[in-house]
Amino acid sequence: MQLDTLFIHGGIDGDEQTGAVNVPVYLTSTYKQDGIGNHRGYEYSRTGNPTRFAVEELIKDLEGGSNGLAFASGMAAITAVLMLFRAGDKILLSANVYGGTFRVLDKIFLNFGLNYELVDTSDLSLLTSKIDDSVKAIFIETPTNPLMEVTDIAAISKIAKQKNILTIIDNTFMTPYLQRPLELGADIVLHSATKYLGGHSDLIAGLVVVKDSALAQRLYFIQNATGGVLAPFDSWLLIRGMKTLGVRMDRHLANSQSIIQFLANNSAIKKIYYPGYNSAQQLQIQNNQASGLGAILSFELDSAYDVNIFLTSLKLITLAESLGGIESLISHPASMTHAAIPVHIRHQLGISDRLIRLSVGIESVDDLINDIQVALNIARIHND
Ligand SMILES: *Cc1c(COP(=O)(O)O)cnc(C)c1O
Repeated sequence: MQLDTLFIHGGIDGDEQTGAVNVPVYLTSTYKQDGIGNHRGYEYSRTGNPTRFAVEELIKDLEGGSNGLAFASGMAAITAVLMLFRAGDKILLSANVYGGTFRVLDKIFLNFGLNYELVDTSDLSLLTSKIDDSVKAIFIETPTNPLMEVTDIAAISKIAKQKNILTIIDNTFMTPYLQRPLELGADIVLHSATKYLGGHSDLIAGLVVVKDSALAQRLYFIQNATGGVLAPFDSWLLIRGMKTLGVRMDRHLANSQSIIQFLANNSAIKKIYYPGYNSAQQLQIQNNQASGLGAILSFELDSAYDVNIFLTSLKLITLAESLGGIESLISHPASMTHAAIPVHIRHQLGISDRLIRLSVGIESVDDLINDIQVALNIARIHND
């Protein structure tokens, strides 16, 4: 089946018993047993729930894996994956990973002896030189947030395989519609399903997919033992969102192209960040490993414009954290998503105070562009 069909009929397609075209929401904590040691596949909803199983099967099909697991948030999914490791192990992290990923490693797992090191994963020989006996995994996000740097998933996976360590990819920005890391050689793919997969800014969820059933068993053990599972109703909402991922993403992509064109021709915009936009080499990697460039873009406002006035003059585009919903959201990384990073490191990374990140929604692109133009007019600083 093609992806466009899998979104709608993948995983568990409807309800066998009643013919209901949607998987029911099984709001139950426990299940009747027919005798000692004789149950019908479900015992307790932390361990397993049919609605959660349906979304786990769906993401498994979409990413082309052997098993999927659903968690209460992207961070719960990331935390479960990090619990595969033990004290003395080290994870190599691409610089610019999601702030929460850095935070959980730096402030929690480090206390338990799991080490990490930030590396520029675009420099493959540097990366290889960092792999000693303690390194057990490479954790990558591509493209990165908010500067949209691209990392070569196949090249990294190859190095990791040679060294017998795991490749973990946070695929939140691309979604399986545009990029399927397991097919490129990665071992674990994870998502903040809060973003594009849910797609409607109405739930928090996380998903993990692997292609090796032994690894899946270890993750199922962690999921059940630590309990950060996705609730049945949220599982159902997530399935509902994922059914339209393909059509939503097509519109997200088309709108992004028009907005990039508008920004590129506007003197108010100093620099644009979008996968491959400032590097032919990165564009080639992106085109090799993904079937689109995504719908998150960042740009720097020229100093003749007031950033705060611009952000607060937008009427349609909402100033808010998060991304990937049908509505356009705009954010100021320096004071919002990346505020926890000390200012000198932030500037070193290229995240200036004039940088703005836009998650392009699926509204009429003419209305979006008009909103940006009007806000720019208001934000222009007049020196006369
Ligand atoms: C939002 C996000 C997360 C965290 O997910 P939550 O669902 O908010 O816990 C992880 N990675 C990326 C890339 C994200 O954008």
